[in-house]
Amino acid sequence: MRRINGFGIGVALLATGALVAAACGDDGDGSSSSTDEPVEEDTGDRTGNGDTGGAILLDEGRIVIPEEDVGDVDLSQLPLGDQKISEAPEQGFVYLCPGAPEGMPGAQVDGPWISGDTYSLLDKYWVPGDVDWPEATFDISVDGETRVVTGNNLPINAQTGTFPVPPDSEAYTIDRNPNSISAQELSLELPANPVELAEPSCIGGEVGVLLTGVVLFNAFDAGNLDAVAHEVQDKCQGHPQMSGVYHYHSLSTCLEDIEDTSGGHSNLIGYAFDGFGIYGHRGEGGEVLTTADLDECHGHTHTIDWDGQDVEMYHYHATWEFPYVVGCYRGEAAITGPSVGGGGETLPPPG
Ligand SMILES: [Zn+2]
Ligand SMILES: [Zn+2]
Repeated sequence: MRRINGFGIGVALLATGALVAAACGDDGDGSSSSTDEPVEEDTGDRTGNGDTGGAILLDEGRIVIPEEDVGDVDLSQLPLGDQKISEAPEQGFVYLCPGAPEGMPGAQVDGPWISGDTYSLLDKYWVPGDVDWPEATFDISVDGETRVVTGNNLPINAQTGTFPVPPDSEAYTIDRNPNSISAQELSLELPANPVELAEPSCIGGEVGVLLTGVVLFNAFDAGNLDAVAHEVQDKCQGHPQMSGVYHYHSLSTCLEDIEDTSGGHSNLIGYAFDGFGIYGHRGEGGEVLTTADLDECHGHTHTIDWDGQDVEMYHYHATWEFPYVVGCYRGEAAITGPSVGGGGETLPPPG
């Protein structure tokens, strides 16, 4: 929680729900016209700038994950989630709202880490770069029954890769993401003490925000393929879409939770748009959870630390497996979009 700066009250007049584009010019032509000039570091130091979390690093371009964070999951044989859309809540699927955006696939070709109906996270390419964002802002405060989240959607205490994807990178051979990262107006009002609905509800393109201050999209790219499997993200599992909105499709491994080996339940790593908390990979007793351990919305209920109190409460968990974080909403979504992100990436066709 130490990444969250106290903000106090008095921000209740913020408009609800909109993640509004504050910059344009990322129109897919590969030009870098953002006004948010990143600070490039080229020191070769993969550990980042001191407080990036940095638990999981790239080694020779491949991700390195401590064994104790993997559990019984085979990261070289993860199930592909392509088109795993359900019309009702269903474990292992995304209950996608009708009309959620569709478009062109995010990657131009399949990476060599995809084989049949599985893929290897350990063999994925990643977008290179160690870019700091000193202008990143992010605040969370509770005002009565409302949790107020504000920021500019640039990552605090975490780096990004270099975007547009450098043409000389191996990432470029698979996913020529031509977009630049730009600041957005992130302004959310979520229920501070959400309650479960009798029936879960469907999700759209954006499903939450992680404590790096960056929005979380659902598990799909714009073609409803498994975005984690097909798209090439950076070492913190993020990348920008066409409006410059940097986002994740899975738990960012640059959040410190990942390296928590204390044996306990994961820490809070973000909030879904229904207000329920999102926690890391570990359940009670420190067990690394799989999709089969969780309900159709990708969560479960037990006593957690909620704003400093022990509360028996529903919450989501991240897993290594599809659908990665949120499969549907247990509570009523305070943010239903569409917002600028929309969960979609529009990239040029192959060639
Ligand atoms: Zn994406
Ligand atoms: Zn739990």
